[in-house]
Amino acid sequence: MDYSGKTMGEAFNALKTRLADYTHFQQAESLLSWDQETYMPPGAVVDRGEQLATLSKFSHELFVAPKTGRLLRDAAKEDVVAGNPDSDEAAIVRVTLRDYKKERKIPVDFVTELERARAQSHQAWVEARKASDFRHFEPWLTKMIDFARRYADLQGYKEHPYDALLDRFEPEMRTSHARKIFAQLRDGQAPLVKAISAKADAISDAPLHGHFPREKQIEFATRVSKQFGYDYNHGRMDFAAHPFETSFSARDVRITTRLYENFFNPMLFGTLHETGHALYEQGVSTAFAHTPLEHGVSLGIHESQSRMWENLVGRSHEFWEHFYPELQATFPEQFRPVSLDDFYRAINRVSPSFIRVEADEVTYNMHIMVRFELELDLIEGKLKVRDLPEAWNARYKEYLGITPPNDAVGVLQDTHWGIGLIGYFATYTLGNLASVQLFEQAEVDIPALRDNIRAGNFAPLLQWLRANIHQYGRKYSPDEIMRKATGKPLSAQPYLNYLKRKYSQIYGL
Ligand code: ZN
Repeated sequence: MDYSGKTMGEAFNALKTRLADYTHFQQAESLLSWDQETYMPPGAVVDRGEQLATLSKFSHELFVAPKTGRLLRDAAKEDVVAGNPDSDEAAIVRVTLRDYKKERKIPVDFVTELERARAQSHQAWVEARKASDFRHFEPWLTKMIDFARRYADLQGYKEHPYDALLDRFEPEMRTSHARKIFAQLRDGQAPLVKAISAKADAISDAPLHGHFPREKQIEFATRVSKQFGYDYNHGRMDFAAHPFETSFSARDVRITTRLYENFFNPMLFGTLHETGHALYEQGVSTAFAHTPLEHGVSLGIHESQSRMWENLVGRSHEFWEHFYPELQATFPEQFRPVSLDDFYRAINRVSPSFIRVEADEVTYNMHIMVRFELELDLIEGKLKVRDLPEAWNARYKEYLGITPPNDAVGVLQDTHWGIGLIGYFATYTLGNLASVQLFEQAEVDIPALRDNIRAGNFAPLLQWLRANIHQYGRKYSPDEIMRKATGKPLSAQPYLNYLKRKYSQIYGL
């Protein structure tokens, strides 16, 4: 096909039509996956797997077809794109072309082989964890590491094979930069963990355990998430075993949560976390509707949003100065006898533990550091899979001062490696760090920010996030987002300062 009308943007328009087909396939896949995690009867799991496989086959074929490449290259020459490199149109072509080149490098055979292995590997992991028997999982993990190395070779990389693995989740993040950040954390955070561990008994979280009726928990969490700005006309909340957020488009962004009547934290803080993810997705500019850019740019930047709303807002003293009276009225028996300050300390209690997903703000990054370092050693071949449990336990002893009693609560606790997600863990920590760096900039730009929070007014913060992060979708890389918003690349220092400030006060260090 010849698009001679270069100034008219004919190729660009044809590209948009094609990308709309592609994204609609993907949205349907996401909807089926959401249903699988929320409402689908368990007996439908095999059928659902086949439905998803069919949809993803069609969407993949559509995307990697030579026609997509031709439209991308033709559109790049049109005035609508070439004439304005910073426009949304140019971003659509640039980012999609990057995806296209990456997808084309991975042969269909590799994808099929990996998919099949992943299903079996996941099953082996489930069984191994149940029996706390690492040996049962070992051959599969060895395969997953091998797949990761092959993926890196197919994809290519500038400095380190791990760059290619990181890039799947954190575009353009280099291993060398991540290493520097983790080294900074190790030096700064490890002493703080030790100092607080020595005073671990100073704070009790007993007020958070008791009886919290289901309906009241749902009502309170929903009220707060609405007040944050989560638009329920374009969203909804359901229950799932492992809470998550999923977005089909900016106009349909859903969250899930879980609830325990005898423990207060998971429902409220889980909901605030997923709300943070949802606010990001709801804020993407309509200019990117029906294109692959209508999502958050990376897992790290995404996690910066969820952690900001969960921790920097939701676990702050200012937030509870506003909400604690409401909370006391909602759960009078539990919270009337507890002062605001005791409640604040309880929700910020630090306690080194074996399980990552239960970790507090101070110890969380240490869990990630263990995984990041071990992944690197595995990819570099410095560490054999068979020696992994020992290496895992040694690092837990070193960084958290505790030794897992068995592999189920040690090296087998997370699902990620079993399904081939290598290069993923680091993004949790990158997100934590970015959350503070961004929040501090928001404080500079909005001098009344803490007073706003104290008044239950979250609109100024949300507007700042919309303007500096959300609206762009995938237009800018994570590094560009950080530099544009804060003037600096991502660094661990703001997070370290924040932890020291907050927890020295709480623990009287
Ligand atoms: Zn998250």
